[in-house]
Amino acid sequence: MKKVTGTSILKGIAIGRILFYQKREQQIKPVKVTDVRTEKKRYEEARKTAVLQLKELQKKAEKEVGPMDAGVFEAHAVMVEDEDYADSVLKIIETQQVNAEFAVAITGDDFFKMFSGMDDDFFKARAADVKDVSERLIDILSGKGNAGNLVNEPVIVVADELSPSETIQMDKGKLLGFVTRQGSANSHTAILAKTMDIPALIGVDIKKEWNGKTAIIDGYLGNLYIEPDKEIYNQMRAHLEEDQKAKALLRELRGKEDVTLDGKKIKLYANIGSVSDVASVLANDAAGIGLFRSEFLYLEAKDYPSEESQFQAYKAVAENMAGKEVIIRTLDIGADKQADYFQLEREENPAMGYRAIRICLEQPEIFKTQLRALLRASAFGNISIMYPMIISVEEVRKIKGIVESVKAELDAQEIPYGEFEQGIMIETPAAVMISDLLAEEVDFFSIGTNDLTQYILAIDRQNRKLDGIYDSHHPAVLRMIQMTVENGHKHGCQVGICGELAADPALTRTFLKMGIDELSVPPSLVLPIRKNIREMELGE
Ligand code: PEP
Ligand code: MG
Repeated sequence: MKKVTGTSILKGIAIGRILFYQKREQQIKPVKVTDVRTEKKRYEEARKTAVLQLKELQKKAEKEVGPMDAGVFEAHAVMVEDEDYADSVLKIIETQQVNAEFAVAITGDDFFKMFSGMDDDFFKARAADVKDVSERLIDILSGKGNAGNLVNEPVIVVADELSPSETIQMDKGKLLGFVTRQGSANSHTAILAKTMDIPALIGVDIKKEWNGKTAIIDGYLGNLYIEPDKEIYNQMRAHLEEDQKAKALLRELRGKEDVTLDGKKIKLYANIGSVSDVASVLANDAAGIGLFRSEFLYLEAKDYPSEESQFQAYKAVAENMAGKEVIIRTLDIGADKQADYFQLEREENPAMGYRAIRICLEQPEIFKTQLRALLRASAFGNISIMYPMIISVEEVRKIKGIVESVKAELDAQEIPYGEFEQGIMIETPAAVMISDLLAEEVDFFSIGTNDLTQYILAIDRQNRKLDGIYDSHHPAVLRMIQMTVENGHKHGCQVGICGELAADPALTRTFLKMGIDELSVPPSLVLPIRKNIREMELGE
């Protein structure tokens, strides 16, 4: 048995086999081959496998996020079967007598350059597709993988680093936990682990030879056991069973009100990142969805999601929540949430860079597509729309202007939409300081303590070295929350918290006393926080 330690993201136990997830090599090297025929056959086999994988992914996308990615995967399959592409690969293998991986890499590069150089947006967008298809073929040829495709049985994924887009693409039903060397406790990958309710450790000195071995994550103590001995195995199994019993006890709180012993009520909502998370929201009986991070739909996709596919996703969430409030945040991409097809430039300070609402206001066609989808979906449930990273009243007015123009478009086309509220994230110190002015513009605020903490304390939430001093309990953070509540309430604006701090039981009393109207937490923490609230007396 071997024991290593790391920083735990979620208190829980995971027992299973390790899948070592290796990112693709940056540089594919040419290797001389003598048997050209066999090499060509390897390529033909890889092509068939890629088509099968893409068909599977298409089915999965249809099931999990509606027809969201389906079309894209179909397009990728067509590209894999494209004869010009295949001819180029086979020719390179033959004339240069090189390995298929290298021939694919060269062909992929050539096609990428050709598409991205075209003077037509449709073909430009195909450049990202061709890159993706080439990477898939290389993965298959080199036996590596895309954990999203490889996970066929429940596994603990071990990786050097996992990006939010890699994590969201994994099959949640088959992911027992993950362990990484890199990553910070406040990153979106960590937040996704909490939303998915899977134990995760970061900062672990991982080893490739663990692949295939049985392991246990002890998320209470931050330990990882490789090939655990009988004693540890039995101990952890018992712990896991206790956890399951405790969860069963908490389930008795379903259907109960979120109210303190002395009658103070609060709305207890849940955060989600995809349509499939709604099942967990319902199972844990949240009163609504306080934050749907819509950018994860974009991270799951291989190209800009269409209006129709977004509409289907938002409609599915609204309908499944059956009249309960669903707050959908518009695209908050950038910083650690990157999708290749946006082709965002590398920045010195991405957290303070071109991201979120800044992209939407600069590229209104992307924003309008999302708004049309949101408005159309509002006819099918209780949807509210929320805008991220706000720093000024002017931004909010511009947004409202765009929303009005989208409404006018829909009216002209006689496309129905429902009533919806509009709110903003309060996650910059600027927004806090002008929250009295902002409150006059919108229906609600939701405080994003993850970003707010990083900007107030000038601590990069992505930097693991600073996790120890990233202190969301800092008096400056708490004072800013208090100020936001007071300013919001003075101007008739509801105030919630959807950052991770909302789920911190040590602060539930403080938030209730401040007068916070709503807390939105990972689905699995709704019932523990409900228990906390119901056992509390504020004594006012
Ligand atoms: C936040 O910043 O607190 C927040 C909820 O948004 P995100 O974590 O997605 O940046
Ligand atoms: Mg944020």
